Amino acid sequence: MSIQWQILGQPGSDNAVFLTVDSGQAVDHFLFDCGEGCLTSLRPSQIQAITHLAFSHFHMDHVSGFDTFFRHNYNRPDTPVNVWGPTGAIGLMHHRFQSFSWNLHRDQPGEWIVRETEGTTVEGARLLTREAFATAHSLPSVPMTGRALVTAPRFTLEAFLLPHGSIPSVAFRVIEAERRNISPEALQYSSHKPGPWLQALTEESISDEERISVDGTDHSIADLRAEFVITSPGESLAYLTDFRVEPESETREALCEWLKGTNTVISECQYHHRDRALAIRNGHMTSREVGQLASDAQVGSLVLQHLSRRYSPTDWAAMLRETKLSFPRAAFPPDWQSSIPES
Ligand SMILES: [Zn+2]
Ligand SMILES: [Zn+2]
Repeated sequence: MSIQWQILGQPGSDNAVFLTVDSGQAVDHFLFDCGEGCLTSLRPSQIQAITHLAFSHFHMDHVSGFDTFFRHNYNRPDTPVNVWGPTGAIGLMHHRFQSFSWNLHRDQPGEWIVRETEGTTVEGARLLTREAFATAHSLPSVPMTGRALVTAPRFTLEAFLLPHGSIPSVAFRVIEAERRNISPEALQYSSHKPGPWLQALTEESISDEERISVDGTDHSIADLRAEFVITSPGESLAYLTDFRVEPESETREALCEWLKGTNTVISECQYHHRDRALAIRNGHMTSREVGQLASDAQVGSLVLQHLSRRYSPTDWAAMLRETKLSFPRAAFPPDWQSSIPES
């Protein structure tokens, strides 16, 4: 099992995050935001495999590449596209889907489940290509459990609404399901012979209530799991962009509490700390503040992206050094290192 990520787009340009959760039995693909040109580094088959598209907010630099995504997926058969965003996402996406001429759509597949949240409840709507997206069919409201938008067998997707000037920006976190491995020691000291039943114990689609035959005897999956399976927490990755939390504020405290122990945090780094006044005015963090946040939240590693083009590559390198003063495990994405000196 693993979480793999890739920052799309170049330093100083629009960025997005392509994320893969591989459980060993199935793979889920996520895209966080969809700025202009961000999808050019993905293959069409990768774009068509994305099942969750999560928008932090709908400022242009986070949504300008959506037409490319839509073109690849508008009539995707079998698997719906799940879209997530802050309140207003359903209306915005509905308008966007309808802003094309549709006259050859009636036999086309294509299902879009758009969900929006204000932090405690998830509203949803289903939109269909064969209807030319005429109606946003409302889905029942679902109260969030803590910060979880959805808990699926292989992952949990969480949301934390952050302030970004006068609008919210949603931070997302993906947490893999617990990992299940067979204990070699338990097997060594057991009278059971290894067989296909071992695989069933780590299979996420098989529930504890089921039963299985081992050496001709019937056993409960729950009992076998208790004896042979070692569980460990899955990996986690959080994506935070376009936000500002003030030092000492309740929101910052709650954010640190939420992020605590997250393996990887991908964060915006729009402003050099010398431009803090501008960062405050525009609802963004500075490089130093992002480092302090990562340090206070005791996260595993910090990846910086969404750099302002007002700065030169030398400035960006200085911003990373500034972040590292409070959080040494900060870095730019690996493939940016050739365009940013001394980073
Ligand atoms: Zn932005
Ligand atoms: Zn923004």
